[in-house]
Amino acid sequence: MNFINKIARFMYGRYGIDDLYKFLFKVFFCLTLINLFFHNSILFYIELFLFIISIYRVLSKNIYRRRRENERFLNIKKILLKPFFNFKRNYRDRKTYVYKKCHHCKTTLRLPLPSKRGINHVKCPECRKRLTVFSLRKERIEIIRTKRKEMKNV
Ligand SMILES: [Zn+2]
Repeated sequence: MNFINKIARFMYGRYGIDDLYKFLFKVFFCLTLINLFFHNSILFYIELFLFIISIYRVLSKNIYRRRRENERFLNIKKILLKPFFNFKRNYRDRKTYVYKKCHHCKTTLRLPLPSKRGINHVKCPECRKRLTVFSLRKERIEIIRTKRKEMKNV
């Protein structure tokens, strides 16, 4: 109990573990595994660097800055993983919905797959502009850019 108390007191006011730490640790772990076979000195220094950075961040008392770093990391992660999430989403909904971008405000619209061919209209929930969608085949739908209507709305 005494030992746990000591650790708790030591960690008081320190930053601790976050997503960036977990990511750095995973990279560190993978590099260590890889380096078991290669014995590369450059890899070893990268490992060491990651280890020191991770520990430094956990023990850091500058909580505000560490939190900012973590936020930045999460933003980059979100941007990088977005295509994969989109791919997964498109595959999951392939029989019910189509995802298209509104060409006015770039919002992604979830459009139900048309049951019949032809021209339809949808309203973008973000910019409230009317979009013309067109489907030639059952599983396909396209947004038509109507220049004339855009001019009218401006
Ligand atoms: Zn829009």
